[in-house]
Amino acid sequence: MDWVAEVVGAGATKAEVVGQNGLRFDLRVVVPEAYGNVLQHFTGSKQHNIGLREDAVKQGLSVSEYGVTSVETGEIVSVASEEELYELLGYAYVPPELREGSGELEAARSGSLPQLIELGDLRGDLHVHSTWSDGRASIEEMALAAIERGYEFMAITDHGDRLREGRLELQLEEIEALNARLAPFHILSGVESAIRADGSMDLPDEELARLDWVFGALHTAFERSPTERILGAMDNPHVDCIAHPTARRIGQREPQVAIERVVARAVETETALEMNGQPDRLDLRDVHARLAGEAGAKIVISSDGHRTVTLMSIELGLAQARRAWLTSEQVLNTRPWERILRAKKKS
Ligand SMILES: [Zn+2]
Ligand SMILES: [Zn+2]
Repeated sequence: MDWVAEVVGAGATKAEVVGQNGLRFDLRVVVPEAYGNVLQHFTGSKQHNIGLREDAVKQGLSVSEYGVTSVETGEIVSVASEEELYELLGYAYVPPELREGSGELEAARSGSLPQLIELGDLRGDLHVHSTWSDGRASIEEMALAAIERGYEFMAITDHGDRLREGRLELQLEEIEALNARLAPFHILSGVESAIRADGSMDLPDEELARLDWVFGALHTAFERSPTERILGAMDNPHVDCIAHPTARRIGQREPQVAIERVVARAVETETALEMNGQPDRLDLRDVHARLAGEAGAKIVISSDGHRTVTLMSIELGLAQARRAWLTSEQVLNTRPWERILRAKKKS
């Protein structure tokens, strides 16, 4: 095939190739009755499968891609689905996102796996940009795309520095007019206010106080006390949520934010933490989001969409949230806006 750069291995029931993009592909041909075994075997992670096999050995069983073999009798049981495989080994089904060797097998054994959040649980997006700052579509275009996705609400959160000198007032008027037209869909007035190098927010408190939803976010000077600046922003009663809390850009920068302290202060001040869906952010990362969820912090999953099509980035945030064991109860934007309003920080 055109996209194959190199054939590494070939046989009657398998092939291994390297694609033009450098990725390796394995093809296996198995009978349908053993599909569950082979799928589970090749669906990582290594740590998960090592744990699974060690557990099985204690029960006198040997697990491989071909089936589950009884060491005593030599009998091999194969299964058509992964669900059957986990059941056969005495576990509840472990969703692929949890197969990391981080406690999921014990939880599956004792029936205490979380009911993971699903895409359909999300009722709205609380982080959306428009042409009022660096977005590429108008508020109306973003709202129509959000309605198309089945949402009940969307918060417009343009950058604070672009809403000075009377522009915030004008944006609020536009949102009010659109809300009259698009009801029952609800556009919330919001902002993504930068936490400056000196720790102050880039909009004054009296402006922040007028808005439905306020993000505090680090965008600059990442080496200048990033943790202290975030903690300070959380102490501001008008800051509802910290956007992309560690400000990482995958492959570019990894600011040193003390996430344990951020999570503790988030719980203390009832400030939410964002799971940002931008592909090069995915921040909080999975282990941090799990830590936050376990500590009782409120999580918001959002797209940070700058164009209509990138509203779909929320799905990457959702996938990351599932890797973090999060349930819909732990995520604020699974609730109707009226209930978020009651649950959010009191300002
Ligand atoms: Zn941002
Ligand atoms: Zn943003």
